[in-house]
Amino acid sequence: MRYFVILAFPLLLLFACSGSKHSSNSPVSAYNIVIDGKLWSSLFEQKAAEYRALCLQAYNIARLRLDEALLQPSSKPRAIITDIDETFLDNSPFSVHQALQGKDYEVAAWAEWTAKAMADTLTGALSFYNYAASRNVEIFYITNRRESEKDGTLQNLRRFHFPLADEQHLILRKDVSSKESRRQQVAATHEIVLFLGDNLADFSSLFDGPKTTAERAAGVQQLSLEFGKRFIVLPNTNYGGWEDAIYGNNFSLTPQQKDSAIKNNLKAY
Ligand SMILES: [Mg+2]
Repeated sequence: MRYFVILAFPLLLLFACSGSKHSSNSPVSAYNIVIDGKLWSSLFEQKAAEYRALCLQAYNIARLRLDEALLQPSSKPRAIITDIDETFLDNSPFSVHQALQGKDYEVAAWAEWTAKAMADTLTGALSFYNYAASRNVEIFYITNRRESEKDGTLQNLRRFHFPLADEQHLILRKDVSSKESRRQQVAATHEIVLFLGDNLADFSSLFDGPKTTAERAAGVQQLSLEFGKRFIVLPNTNYGGWEDAIYGNNFSLTPQQKDSAIKNNLKAY
């Protein structure tokens, strides 16, 4: 008995210590997909030369399609409609900033970031928009940044000398997130030759409103001939309508509930 106590006590102590160590520091239990996952997706956007190549691929195709459009007659002035965030401005430092604090996207933190006007540009973007402007094609920046973010946004665009970075060409979100009425507003006076975006709702009202993953995929199939033609898509692994759909477009889920939704949506073998 005495020997048992002498031997058992250190063993119990060892188990207790290793148990508490496991629960507090285990990379599995502490890892949160939706928050820490943004570090991984941001790493790709910041460091993978493949991401740069994808952006160049998008902007090279855009230029090709623009040149084709310029050969066609047009009764109205030509225009390009482009989104801003993750279409030509890189906000991955914001995602990293949030994730390192254990936080997901927050409206107030986002506004703080955009007010700094320091987002860098994506590879190939600036030269494309400058080329379009040199060919007398107007550029309309249709974004879901809010009116309160106007000054910071204009400052960010002007910092890199984006063409037509003025109040007439920057069309922010006023009430609805749908960009359809804003696209129609431009289409009333211009021939829209190209749309650029990272989110499907940047292209068509087909993707507006809460849409399921299956509905989004069906919409892409329906418009399949437009991609790489009038619709130029930039990759965004960090966020977007695709992520909202995973959560059932429910914006009040906790990070833990989001993690469950992510796991439930994944396919393994
Ligand atoms: Mg965007």
